[in-house]
Amino acid sequence: MQRTLAIIKPDAVQRRLIGKIISRFEEKGLEIIGLKMTVIPNDLAKKNYSVHEGKDYFEKLVRFMTSGPVVVLVLRGKNAIGVVRKLMGSTSGHEADPGTIRGDYAISGRFNLIHGSDSVESAEREIPIFFDDSSIIESEKSDLKWIYDMSDDLTGENLI
Ligand code: ATP
Ligand code: MG
Repeated sequence: MQRTLAIIKPDAVQRRLIGKIISRFEEKGLEIIGLKMTVIPNDLAKKNYSVHEGKDYFEKLVRFMTSGPVVVLVLRGKNAIGVVRKLMGSTSGHEADPGTIRGDYAISGRFNLIHGSDSVESAEREIPIFFDDSSIIESEKSDLKWIYDMSDDLTGENLI
């Protein structure tokens, strides 16, 4: 099972979209295994978005991400990284497809509501920026056998 980091950005929190966004992840079948509300300090925002350092929008991106409270999540599920990216939609709200979070609720290119790790390497790098191991809670959810076909593998290693 894959893990990914998602951040409900300051614009989404101010626009009272936390519940709607979390519902999309839950309804899809992803498990929330880490969750917190925080105001991201400057150094952590820079670290999370370090691949964008040097881009002309970097300072504004960091200012935006540190401008108010965010909700940070660790989500778990089959192909969680790709699934979350699909649920988010493409980067700019005005280009994102209807049915996606950005496509339904955003129109800006920067105020785009949600961050999601874009690769296994990014997820492995980003999760420890916000969560230590003890604050990730991997309890077995009782509905898992109805979310996945686990008839061939009750260990949950090979979910279908
Ligand atoms: P995120 O990393 O937040 O999940 P993303 O992976 O879809 O978004 P990236 O290319 O990684 O998009 O850009 C990171 C963030 O930087 C975007 O979400 C957006 O807020 C901002 N951004 C990216 N490109 C631009 C740009 N050209 N002008 C302004 N802001 C930008
Ligand atoms: Mg990105």
